[in-house]
Amino acid sequence: MDFELPGEDDPRRREVRAWLSAHGRPTGRQLAEAGYVAPHWPTPWGLGADPVLQLVIDDELRRAHVSRPVNPIGIGWAGPTLIHAGTDEQKSRHLLPILSGEEIWCQLFSEPGSGSDLASLSTRAARDGDEYVVNGQKIWTSLGHLARYGILIARTSSSGPKHEGITYFICPMDAPGISVRPIVEMTGDHSFNEVFFDDVRIPVTNRVGAEGDGWKLAKVTLGNERVSLSGEGALWGRGPTATDLLDLVRSRGGLTDAVLRQRLAALYIESEVLRLIRLRTVSAAVAGRQPGPEASIRKAMADEHGQHIMGLAKDLAGTAGLLTDVGPLGAAVGLWQYGYLFSPALTIGGGTAQVQRNIIAERVLGLPHDIEV
Ligand SMILES: Cc1cc2nc3c(=O)[nH]c(=O)nc-3n(C[C@H](O)[C@H](O)[C@H](O)COP(=O)(O)OP(=O)(O)OC[C@H]3O[C@@H](n4cnc5c(N)ncnc54)[C@H](O)[C@@H]3O)c2cc1C
Repeated sequence: MDFELPGEDDPRRREVRAWLSAHGRPTGRQLAEAGYVAPHWPTPWGLGADPVLQLVIDDELRRAHVSRPVNPIGIGWAGPTLIHAGTDEQKSRHLLPILSGEEIWCQLFSEPGSGSDLASLSTRAARDGDEYVVNGQKIWTSLGHLARYGILIARTSSSGPKHEGITYFICPMDAPGISVRPIVEMTGDHSFNEVFFDDVRIPVTNRVGAEGDGWKLAKVTLGNERVSLSGEGALWGRGPTATDLLDLVRSRGGLTDAVLRQRLAALYIESEVLRLIRLRTVSAAVAGRQPGPEASIRKAMADEHGQHIMGLAKDLAGTAGLLTDVGPLGAAVGLWQYGYLFSPALTIGGGTAQVQRNIIAERVLGLPHDIEV
């Protein structure tokens, strides 16, 4: 699982560095046009970059303190689905503004009665000439209040197996008949919403794939979502890591409490196991192999690891942890308080912990299929 990144003189490194010094503080659009936002995407939107080139570009952007545009759903999983199944018109209209962050996207999948069992969804899209008329309700729509477009799955047929009657659409969030209502979380933030569809007309040209292909495409979207949510930080790849917490404890003189020391050691072990799983995935990609079962295992472990980091950080704040502006061991609060309150969501969003275990049981261990109800 060992590999080395190309050295300082590598021509690929020099090329990225030259581009960055020529562009000073590049805009999202400049980064997108250069292919540096999602280098693994095919040209002309990406560079068709192999994993080594991707790591080199990441490295050089970090070194130059250049951040990529933030459009998690658009770049993480809507864009890849459009690349997979969108028409040429859909790709040329949408992919660049997704990459540049000029058009934020949301995901209109979950409904009040359909979360884990997404295929039972009941929002309907009825064909009417060159349009579909959509009626129903979605929930937990992250960024719905900021998004210009959403990826929408809706039922176009009720006859036959439930998975086969679903169709995938690009939904303009300003279409008449859409209302977006905020849901405020216990963090105090407003990041997700309820979205209501009342006779919303979506042109047939906004359909992705054929009618009835929606479930197949939703699986492409969800596969990309799981990979995107699996970085190193405690909060789906963002935020502090176990190492940050350990460094903080060290910098405050260490711990004498035996139970807290045990918990810190356990946290370190988890983070090392996750680091090795991540390295194995990168190493397999560098060798040209597809990621194996470690992607599901990593998501299941990383979500709980995030909760362990945030729970321990809160406990390390002691009674001061009851306040909202104190971090662990009296440190500045940073993301610790927000992260603690957000962390229960980690094992729900992007597929719950139990659903991940079903996937591992069936696809990795070869156990019998979950009972359909
Ligand atoms: C932070 C966050 C952001 C989100 N953003 C979006 C978004 O942008 N767009 C969107 O469409 N959705 C979004 N979601 C919704 C998310 O996809 C759903 O919450 C998730 O799929 C679970 O569905 P549910 O909440 O309906 O729970 P349910 O499916 O009702 O599950 C309830 C409980 O039953 C368990 N359970 C269900 N089925 C099984 C089974 N077969 N075997 C064992 N246990 C089972 C679950 O694990 C869970 O513990 C978001 C969720 C979170 C937390």
